[in-house]
Amino acid sequence: MLVTAEKIKEQVLKTGEMLIRGGLVTGTSGNISARVPGERLFVITPSGIPYDQMKINDLVLVDDSGNTVDGERRPTTEWRMHLAIYGVRADVEAVVHTHSVFASALAVAGKTLPPILEDMAQLVGGEVPLAGYARAGTAKLAAAAAETLGRSNAVLLANHGLAGVGRDVDEAYQVCLVVEKAARVYAWASLLGNVKPIAPEDVKVLRDGFVNDYGQPGGDSLSLFEFDRRGG
Ligand SMILES: [Zn+2]
Repeated sequence: MLVTAEKIKEQVLKTGEMLIRGGLVTGTSGNISARVPGERLFVITPSGIPYDQMKINDLVLVDDSGNTVDGERRPTTEWRMHLAIYGVRADVEAVVHTHSVFASALAVAGKTLPPILEDMAQLVGGEVPLAGYARAGTAKLAAAAAETLGRSNAVLLANHGLAGVGRDVDEAYQVCLVVEKAARVYAWASLLGNVKPIAPEDVKVLRDGFVNDYGQPGGDSLSLFEFDRRGG
């Protein structure tokens, strides 16, 4: 168990660096968690420590009630939202929460994000819903986020930001990245005129193809960055 938790911690730390580099968070905002496979335990980022200063030992291991099992730091104040999502989605292995600008703009405007781009349709599987406003860190926000997420892989949080989920930390990160890009495109497209979402039947084919056929046999798949560079 310990070896696995250590490996998950490395992935979480690396993803924190990528959040900063990708411009999805600033300073100490946003947070990351991942399930320890086969355990009712979760690695979660600490409260108030900048990603570029975060060390493995700063990460916290919590149980499914939010009690600290291992670690010196206090977990992120938004731990309830992470655990609420795991509570309703057994298929989710990781949660990444960001305050990225364009996703936040939609969440302030009270809008959902329709499936407007193919990479978004593949990773999210449809519209990104919007959870109603509740203050950060509260049980009310946790419940709203988990309930509104439903079967989607991302949920906008009113006047706050975005949460993305995935089958591992990297996928949850990629979901946040692609939703932020789509939110940016959506804002620009709205200024230009009519926004035309991808038809539901095409979204389904794109999503099914991604889940079932994408990548290399044996799980040695290209990262989406690679995917983008090679032109899809
Ligand atoms: Zn937040």
